[in-house]
Amino acid sequence: MTRPQKTKKKILPRVAMPEQPALERACNFEEVTLGYTAELARQEAMRCLQCKRPLCRDGCPVEIDIKAFIGCLQEDDLDGAHAVIRDYNSLPAVCGRVCPQESQCEGKCVLSAKGEPVAIGRLERYVADAFAARQEADDPCTALTGAPVCASDKPLRVACVGGGPAGLSCAGHLAAQGARVTVFEALHEVGGVLVYGIPGFRLPKDVVRREVEAMRGLGVVFRTNWVGGCTFELSELFDQGFDAVFIGVGAGLPRFLNVPGENLLGVFSANEYLTRVNLGRANAFPAYDTPPPPTGRVVVVGGGNVAMDAARTALRLGAEKVTILYRRTEAEMPARVEEVHHAKAEGVEIHCLCSPVSFNGDQGQHLVSVSAQLMELGEPDESGRCRPVCLEGQVTEIPADTAIIAVGTQPNPVLLRATPDLPLNRWGYIEADPETGETALPNVFAGGDIVTGAATVISAMGAGRRAAKAILERFGS
Ligand code: FAD
Ligand code: SF4
Repeated sequence: MTRPQKTKKKILPRVAMPEQPALERACNFEEVTLGYTAELARQEAMRCLQCKRPLCRDGCPVEIDIKAFIGCLQEDDLDGAHAVIRDYNSLPAVCGRVCPQESQCEGKCVLSAKGEPVAIGRLERYVADAFAARQEADDPCTALTGAPVCASDKPLRVACVGGGPAGLSCAGHLAAQGARVTVFEALHEVGGVLVYGIPGFRLPKDVVRREVEAMRGLGVVFRTNWVGGCTFELSELFDQGFDAVFIGVGAGLPRFLNVPGENLLGVFSANEYLTRVNLGRANAFPAYDTPPPPTGRVVVVGGGNVAMDAARTALRLGAEKVTILYRRTEAEMPARVEEVHHAKAEGVEIHCLCSPVSFNGDQGQHLVSVSAQLMELGEPDESGRCRPVCLEGQVTEIPADTAIIAVGTQPNPVLLRATPDLPLNRWGYIEADPETGETALPNVFAGGDIVTGAATVISAMGAGRRAAKAILERFGS
């Protein structure tokens, strides 16, 4: 008797995300990827195996029940999918666009071992966008909230200092439980790196505003142009009746290379360069007051998302040529693979294994070239990545009109200096319990980049959410 053959379910390829053609998008600031249609989202959702033990969830820092939301999409239940995601994530349209899914949920998806993982991020983005669009069509007045307005009449009052992903996530979770939350943000717009750092062609600012408005709908109050440690001190918040404070002020102070010529005209930190365009709207000058940075030949130093964003922004501002210098090889680049791929397709050149040793200027102190030391890879360092080693005597000179330094950041110091009794670790970040965000100061919690150093949107959000839970437990709400 012949045994019946087990039929293997055919694994279909991942459904591609429509996007603007590379050369077209390199000349505009519109979003590069266009999002799934309902049909594409359904096709991609059907690839999910609905595993008995779904590993994808283990890879999500905020533990979204991924299997459940994709299961809802398989049943065409958009409301159900949205409700599942919202239970865990207060910024799904943002995370669906910028999270490094390849190393998180999608990296754990069982299909990644057999071929391509389910496109979890793209599905999350689809749910957030489609839900908001449908709400807007149904009732434009409540479209931005996505949830019923909550009366917020419980006595618990919390102040979140810093309106980036960490502060917003903390505020969103607390407000959803009825706490009265006020976010104090130093800048004139809420969102942190989401509005001043990540460019609109990757994360449209309307998407961030929509998510912020959803929180306003939950009763969160936003106070912009309030600088903790300058406009007010932490102790004053308690005097005003707040029960707890969450600090999420990020790590926005740029690091430099400390090589000669870094103060020449034409040399920028990536932070300043991107802020000028994203917040200052320099790309729309003279309709906005911020003059655009000079273009010409642009050299960007670094290999992370920030370097990719700066390089692609320079292209869109009209640069003649954009070159990224990175001291290791492409395989070690910390930027998301998708961002490197997009940058190259748009025409950015990447020179690996070289690092600037000086910026050279003319008599008027304008940058004219960058001298870069050529390197090779040596033994792995404490981070596990191979250490770049100088190739003795091998220095190359690259003509440049603009240079952008994107080699990392450090803590925003204003609040920390004004709060000397807040313990910091040896790198200058706030010491906080990794599970609860609790600091050594009573009822003061902290999370996000100001605790971990520069990390990711979702890790900052995870910290905000854990702190919110701890605050609720502390006050018995
Ligand atoms: P932030 O986003 O820095 O927010 C802190 C907020 O606090 C800011 O709004 C700031 O103005 C405010 N603030 C500072 N000091 C004070 C004060 N004294 N009083 C009141 N408010 C204050 N991560 C990803 O996951 N994917 C990406 O693709 C990605 N791309 C990035 C691109 C760029 C250009 C940059 C710079 C970062 C990128 N990141 C990315 C990292 C990610 O954005 C950060 O890890 C995340 O934003 C950290 O969130 P946060 O809330 O801790 O800090
Ligand atoms: Fe679906 Fe992959 Fe999660 Fe399994 S691991 S439930 S296939 S997304």
